[in-house]
Amino acid sequence: MSKVYIFDTTLRDGEQTPGVNLNKEEKLEIAKQLAKLNVDIIEAGFPIASPGEFEAVKNIADNVRGPIIAALARAIPLDIDRAWEAIKGAESPRIHTFIATSDIHIEKKLRKTRDEVLEQAVSAVKYAKRHCSDVEFSAEDAVRSDFNFLCKVFEAVIEAGATVINVPDTVGYALPWEFGDLIKRLKENVKNIDKVIVSVHCHNDLGLATANSLSAIINGAEQVECTINGLGERAGNAAMEEIIMAIKVRRLPYEVDINTQEIYKTSKLVSTLTGIPIQPNKAVVGENAFAHESGIHQHGIIQDPTTYEIIDPKMIGIPESRIVLGKHSGKHAFEKRLQELGYNLSADQLEEAFKKFKELADKKKEITDRDIEAIVSNQMRLIPEFYKLEHLQVVSGIGIVPTATVIIAEDGETIKSVEIGNGPVDAVYKAISKAVKIQHNLEDFSLKSITGGTDALGEAVVKISDKDGNFYVGRASSTDIVEASAKAYLRAINQMIMFRGKD
Ligand SMILES: [Zn+2]
Repeated sequence: MSKVYIFDTTLRDGEQTPGVNLNKEEKLEIAKQLAKLNVDIIEAGFPIASPGEFEAVKNIADNVRGPIIAALARAIPLDIDRAWEAIKGAESPRIHTFIATSDIHIEKKLRKTRDEVLEQAVSAVKYAKRHCSDVEFSAEDAVRSDFNFLCKVFEAVIEAGATVINVPDTVGYALPWEFGDLIKRLKENVKNIDKVIVSVHCHNDLGLATANSLSAIINGAEQVECTINGLGERAGNAAMEEIIMAIKVRRLPYEVDINTQEIYKTSKLVSTLTGIPIQPNKAVVGENAFAHESGIHQHGIIQDPTTYEIIDPKMIGIPESRIVLGKHSGKHAFEKRLQELGYNLSADQLEEAFKKFKELADKKKEITDRDIEAIVSNQMRLIPEFYKLEHLQVVSGIGIVPTATVIIAEDGETIKSVEIGNGPVDAVYKAISKAVKIQHNLEDFSLKSITGGTDALGEAVVKISDKDGNFYVGRASSTDIVEASAKAYLRAINQMIMFRGKD
């Protein structure tokens, strides 16, 4: 069986998902989990993008062992040097350089000629080779590139020393049979292609990223670039969990070294840290992927799960929920449940989470896995609390003007603010906004119940933007929806401060 290399780009393309901003610690946490998942390559980021990004990539290269650590660089020496600086501490570093090869990109974006692009691609690969033996070259927008020119570029970069050539469907335009055919024709027409690994990178603009990736594999692609939960620019990238499970469940004749038991855990962690929820009907990892609503289906499942389930939930590491936790549960049972759900907390974090669990157990009879995840998600967002909510009081009701009083701590000082609003959340937001004196715009606010019942946890998600148009997302959950709303708002603000300071 031929091996297919799994190249995870959750931390690079996935981080380009609108609203996602991971800090150094969060990126490391995800990278460590990707190593447990046993991916072959982790694309840790784009070091030239910012000093913070550089540090995050370096931190991963220095601390994560096992997978190859790749960093992205445009086909220019400055980018390549920066990428190399970031990853040189890795066990197996890889420089990933790219330039667009489609006429539309060459003319409109780069304002160059095909010859100039060819020359730049070759010199970039040669330059990268001076630092690193493993060099991947991507022909951006390969799908819309002239086929003969694409062949010429690939042949030249292989000659220059590239070890992997990547064929991206940058704009998610390809159809599965076309894309498979493109890979097949490249394999037939690029004469030195046997010397390298052929990679693909598919986007999901038409919902075909997984299908296109699989079509490429059966036509000879040996590496697929993908992300957890299908995160990525616009409609996202090919979802790793879908590609892996298609290969495993249908027993396709390819070897992938992914530890499928870690899929669920990884998916949860990525969703928690990026703040991007998983759609309930998402293939493989969605909340409803193993839920059965109709009576006929439920009856079938009880007789034999294979009647309506093609994937055994245990295979992707979905824990079997046997123990019900409640207010009599001890710390040991709580910790065990956390581990089954994929969370390894430090002693301090555990202490804090257990306290929250007990508080919740006093208000709510049965604590479900989703409740626990909500508690820990709050715990795990590693955002410093520049502003901390000390006190919150809201008066609202029929015939009363909703009024909120907040006390916020900042560097040991407290700021008190009182506002009225159209509703309790509006009043709280006005009070917070007045207290924090940081310029921002509230872009979006949503509230949903995470668990069932009137005693359920509610989760608030808040999106704000800074004056340069960058987005920051804050999430928080509580049985009190006004409190969740206030905390989510402050988290978004704290995240903004973490990234740009208090200017
Ligand atoms: Zn991409």
